[in-house]
Amino acid sequence: MRLVHKIQEVREQIKQWKKEGLTIGFVPTMGALHAGHLSLIKKSVEKCDRTVVSIFVNPIQFGPNEDLDKYPRTLEADCETAKEADLIFAPTPAEMYGEGFRLSNDYLTYVIPPYFYMDKLCGKSRIGHFDGVCTVVNKFFNIVQPDFAFFGEKDRQQLIIIRKMVKDLNIPVEIIGCPIVREDSGLALSSRNSYLTPEQKEDALALSKLLFNIKKCYKQGITDASALKETAFNYLNSHHNLEYLDFRDEDNLEEKSIIDDKTIAFIAVKIGNVRLIDNVSMKD
Ligand code: AMP
Repeated sequence: MRLVHKIQEVREQIKQWKKEGLTIGFVPTMGALHAGHLSLIKKSVEKCDRTVVSIFVNPIQFGPNEDLDKYPRTLEADCETAKEADLIFAPTPAEMYGEGFRLSNDYLTYVIPPYFYMDKLCGKSRIGHFDGVCTVVNKFFNIVQPDFAFFGEKDRQQLIIIRKMVKDLNIPVEIIGCPIVREDSGLALSSRNSYLTPEQKEDALALSKLLFNIKKCYKQGITDASALKETAFNYLNSHHNLEYLDFRDEDNLEEKSIIDDKTIAFIAVKIGNVRLIDNVSMKD
């Protein structure tokens, strides 16, 4: 595994690999790597000749009141976790956006997904978040030129938006969605779980429990979204600040009032200052 910080170093390495006819897999991350990230890296290593992992806390996808400054940065440990990868690319914000860049669309060229995909779920409260995600992912695709790119279903709205971007802009990469890795308790692994106190972590279990119960009820024949939402509220207490619980189509995020196998149940809850998201597909 080789660690580089400069775009030029990545370009040179990629050029050499392409000359050798090797396929390239790409796993974009913000670091603080855990078993969820590792599952994406392993998929890429299995499928591709070479794997590139980016570690970059992307400033343009954080809102003004979000956790950009306190987001965990653990590069040394991340290099150990990602040692199966061939190349780790950990650029600075200045390397990605230029010295003295400003977080503003009168300064940077942005890639903006369709409004219909952004005005709901996380996009509703995180204004500009998916513009920042699509812009940085597009930049990484131009730098790494991967054949395959691996994204977790943990951030399912992001995965759906990236697929849409790749299709609409004819980007020559195949997007591979990877299942959510969970603790034995059911809690979806997330770098932000490190913000939780032990009591808050207990409260956090409600998200997966509630989603798994919805799926169980659906399998028993309940398809009415409002009825399923009602069952879910039993799992929440005064520590849970529910942002949304929505049923949406797995391809285009349309709202579903009657649930079917193509439905995803999405939830976002704030516990204290920590915002947690999870989702479950009604399929399988
Ligand atoms: P992040 O570092 O949070 O930007 O995540 C980088 C990639 O890892 C994204 O594609 C995430 O969806 C994915 N990821 C994060 N947590 C998990 C998880 N628990 N299971 C599977 N994939 C995950």
